[in-house]
Amino acid sequence: MSGCGLRCAFCQNAQISRGGMGRSVDSGEFAAICLALQNRGAENINIVTGSHAVPAIAEGLRRARGDGLSIPCLWNSSSYEKTETLEALRGLIDMFLPDLKTLDEGIAAKFFNAPDYPLYAEKAILKMMDMAQDKRKVIIRHLVLPGFLESTREALRWFAGNARGRASLSLMTQYTPPRSPLAAASPARFLDREEYDTALAWIEEFGIEDGFYQELETGDEWLPDFERQNPFSSELSVPVWHWKHGFVA
Ligand code: SF4
Repeated sequence: MSGCGLRCAFCQNAQISRGGMGRSVDSGEFAAICLALQNRGAENINIVTGSHAVPAIAEGLRRARGDGLSIPCLWNSSSYEKTETLEALRGLIDMFLPDLKTLDEGIAAKFFNAPDYPLYAEKAILKMMDMAQDKRKVIIRHLVLPGFLESTREALRWFAGNARGRASLSLMTQYTPPRSPLAAASPARFLDREEYDTALAWIEEFGIEDGFYQELETGDEWLPDFERQNPFSSELSVPVWHWKHGFVA
């Protein structure tokens, strides 16, 4: 989805989240895109960063379901959203992938200009776990920020105390210094090996067993460019619809 209610300084999708790239579609076109993806073999519809457009998304998903969409629908969000917003999606979403970016108000103020992020994120994630009632249907993602490891420790502690047995953890270590000039205040380096090993050791320390972590990688070849008909560099990504070109043959 274009736009974002959080606008992180280090966003890797700044073209669409901050730059306004994209175009409006009505519920009929939204449903047609979902069905085209299903027909081309997509295993799910992964709605990324749609908190600011929930009424329209809910209408679009209802229409798509009515038109034959049968693959699972995923809600992939920053967690900066109200519980009432999530309630409006009840019955439409099969799996949740919320971020737990930080529980530190200072970091939330510095990077998102949203010191109340921890307050909303905590409640939103608890709500998603209540809605899903299945640990296989919630993956809580945390991106480790270089130089801010204490924030990661707090997030892992929170997971152990509130989400163990109710969700899986995805520890993301792919932080990439952003290219956007808007991102001057963001960490200007990749995670280093010591930070990576420390974060993994904390997973053990907190007894977190359900989840995923990445290999430590440094490089930005995988960053998307939404100007391109295929925004992603992976050979596995197959464009089906593009905001500028419409349906791709
Ligand atoms: S919440 Fe996600 S999409 Fe929005 S600005 Fe932050 S990183 Fe980008």
